[in-house]
Amino acid sequence: MTDLRMTGLLTVDCGAGREDRDTGAVRYWTPPRARYDCLLCGGREGPVTGSVRVREFVEHHRRDHRARCGHAKTT
Ligand SMILES: [Zn+2]
Repeated sequence: MTDLRMTGLLTVDCGAGREDRDTGAVRYWTPPRARYDCLLCGGREGPVTGSVRVREFVEHHRRDHRARCGHAKTT
């Protein structure tokens, strides 16, 4: 059996908004937010706000945090 361990918690709040029927863009009244809590070092990345920044954050938070985290294994 593989040794699985939870090392971090990614929290994403998708916010609240409505898609504009004409432009396809979403108008948010509560913007999306995301943050990452590392359970190894107790550090936190974010929070970031806004759909574009949240999407980038979700994609890169592990790599970005690994550079700062003293506990992450370099693999
Ligand atoms: Zn960490």
